Amino acid sequence: MIEIDEEYCKGCSICIDFCPLEVLEISDKINRKGYYPPVPTYEEKCIGCRFCELLCPEFSIMVINE
Ligand code: SF4
Ligand code: SF4
Repeated sequence: MIEIDEEYCKGCSICIDFCPLEVLEISDKINRKGYYPPVPTYEEKCIGCRFCELLCPEFSIMVINE
């Protein structure tokens, strides 16, 4: 499960670019800071590697392995 705190995101796209399975996409909704956060459009493909969580400079993503 991928939890994204949209309001802390600064829209850098690192999580999207480095996800090995292209799970994340840019949202079409803007957050309060004026950035487009990611959305886990293909969450079913996620392997729980936590790469996105570790790389996010704003600590906006948390991956919960069930
Ligand atoms: S945990 Fe890994 S596979 Fe899942 S969204 Fe993050 S980078 Fe992609
Ligand atoms: S890496 Fe973090 S700050 Fe950058 S787009 Fe992804 S969630 Fe937002």
